[in-house]
This record gives sequence, structure tokens and C-alpha cells, in this order.
Amino acid sequence: MRTVFPSPEVAPGQRPPLSARRKTSCEPSFSTQTANSLAMIIITRPDATEEQIQHIVSRIADWGLRAEVSRGEMRVVIGVIGAEDKIRQKPLGAFPGVESVMPVLKPYKLVSYEFRGTASRVKVGDVVVGSKEVVVMAGPCSVESEDQILSIAQSIRDAGAKILRGGAFKPRTSPYSFQGLGKVGLQLLAEARRESGLPIITEVMDTKDLELVAEYADCLQIGARNMQNFSLLREVGRTQLPVMLKRGMAASIKDLLMSAEYILSEGNFNVLLCERGIRTFETMTRNTLDLNAVPVLKAETHLPVVVDPTHGIGIRDFVPAMALAAVAAGADSIMIEVHNAPEFAKSDGEQSLLPKDFADLVRRVRCVAEAVGRAV
Ligand code: PEP
Ligand code: MN
Repeated sequence: MRTVFPSPEVAPGQRPPLSARRKTSCEPSFSTQTANSLAMIIITRPDATEEQIQHIVSRIADWGLRAEVSRGEMRVVIGVIGAEDKIRQKPLGAFPGVESVMPVLKPYKLVSYEFRGTASRVKVGDVVVGSKEVVVMAGPCSVESEDQILSIAQSIRDAGAKILRGGAFKPRTSPYSFQGLGKVGLQLLAEARRESGLPIITEVMDTKDLELVAEYADCLQIGARNMQNFSLLREVGRTQLPVMLKRGMAASIKDLLMSAEYILSEGNFNVLLCERGIRTFETMTRNTLDLNAVPVLKAETHLPVVVDPTHGIGIRDFVPAMALAAVAAGADSIMIEVHNAPEFAKSDGEQSLLPKDFADLVRRVRCVAEAVGRAV
């Protein structure tokens, strides 16, 4: 059985049931596709009426195909997905109100910009990612203790962050490094959410932990090392929880888009893509933050783009410059690691900002955001 996540770990009244939280305003009208499915887009006329659009959608459903309606400023685009042989026989262009019909030729179909013809917004708790506002996510690399996470949550919220990050299941290069507090870490995150009011994003590393992590997280993080863990991608695609997919350190932009396609193809359109640095020949920095990816992704996909300059450069003093550059390049959100005592951090202390430096960064991010027509 999929997507049945009972909530035994959570006291009644403490959290709304997952079944309720899984429904968001970005809820798709899709279910699982087959291997030989085809995507078509129906572009309606600017003067198409609501009745005409509803008529198209219901006929598509009658044919056993799926329709995804996207309302842009000028017109409505209806994405159609289903088995290729079935779709090809249907007279999609014959409906009143239709201007043109075309196949999505890109290998990433549901993810491609043209499938929706407008940028998607993804809700994490009550926070919208993908609007004019650049959303700042922040928090420690790992959740370490109650004092640590509560103190950091409060300081980042006061500085202007909108989403709290923190790892409970940590993907570490060495099996001897701190692996995270697991379920206790999730409970501490839930407490920090209650105290701060901030929604939380945390990593799920393995399908076996998804049920547990989904009970606590407002947004699931898929880490760089798992970007091509296709069974995990499919499983998170069967929930309706927002998912932030991080680019693998040796993955091309196209690889990232294809991995996102796995999640959408299971019916979950609530996906954020995160550039977090790739491996290059450079040794002076931890990774090379590929800001090229930001405008390329914004052109290729309707999904919001997050940049993680912390892992991208890996050196505290240089994080602010790359965070500002990410916003200038068009990121919809940035994710920054912050620690109240980085010298004692159990992971990634060397790249974590102190709360006061983070507050200073948010002030500067606000100026850059305004300069490029955004807000914080
Ligand atoms: C993290 O966000 O702490 C993390 C482990 O990121 P990545 O998967 O990008 O290395
Ligand atoms: Mn980290």
C-alpha cells in the first residue's frame, strides 16, 4: 500500500493528519503514468470561456486521459497526459476555444515550462515559494539538541527567514561521522515549529523512513547524494508533500530535470529544484556553485528554483557573496546554514553563519531582491 501514512507518533491535536496536510493548493490532477505516455499541451484562445475550458477538461477525463489546467495571465494552458496511442487518436484541436495543440518534445515533459506555460508556486506550510517574494530558508545542518534548534529557529525567524531547515537523517561521506538524531531530531524540529511558527524542511534519505519523516516535515528534502535514487523519488511523488530536490554533485541540469520528472510523473507537482554546487577541478572551495543553472532552470521548467550557497561554496566567509549572487540571478529561494556555535557543530560548522551574520545577510539580500524586482 502506498501513501498510507498513519500518525502514531504524533499526539492528537498536535499536528493535522497527513491526509489533510497532503492536499495543497498546488494539488495536481494526475496519477501514475505508464512508460509510453505522451504529453500534449492545449493552448486556449485568450477569449476562451470557463465553460469551454471545463468542457475540454471533462472530455479529456472521459477518454481516460489526465488534464492539468494552468492559468497564466493571458490564457489557460491545458496539459494532457496519457498513453501515446490513446492520445494520438483524440481530436484535441477540435474543441471550441482551442487555439493550438502541440506535443511536449522535451524529454522532461511535466516538468517543462511549456507544460504549464506559467511559473508554478509551491506552498510549504503557509509560505509560498515561486512568487515575487524570495523565500529565505535557514537553520543548522543537523538538529543536535533542543537548545540548539530552538535558539537557532528563533534567531533566524527574527532575522526574516520563513522556513526552518535542519537534518535529522544525515547523509555523511563517512559512516563514522554523526548520522543525525533520527526520530528525536524530527520531534525537536516539530517543537521548533511550534515555538517559532516556521514550517520545516528536513531530509528523507531512504524509502523506509518516508512514513516517519512525512509525519513531521512540511517539505521533504532529497539530498544531492540521492538525486538519482529513483525508488525514493517515486515514493515521494506518491505523497502530495512539497519536495525539494537537490542537484547531485555530478549531475547535469538535464539530469536534475529528469529526476524531478520522476516525482511529477507520480502525481506530485509540489517540487522545488535546488542548485547546491557541483564537483569541478577546483579545490579552493568545497563545490562550485553553478549559478548558470538558475536562469537555465527558470527557462526550462515551471518549478521554483532554490539556491543553497552554503554547500555550494562551503566556506562561511564566502557564503554571503554567493547568496546575493543567487538572488541577483533569479533564485526564488535561498537556503543558508546557520549555527549558534559553529565551532561545536556536529556537521558543517565551517560553512555555517552565526545568527548575527545571517541577520546582516538578510538585510543585504533584501536590497538585491528589490534591485531585481523581487522582495524578501
Ligand atoms: C544538507 O542540506 O545538509 C545536505 C546534506 O545537502 P546536500 O545533499 O546538498 O549535500
Ligand atoms: Mn550541511
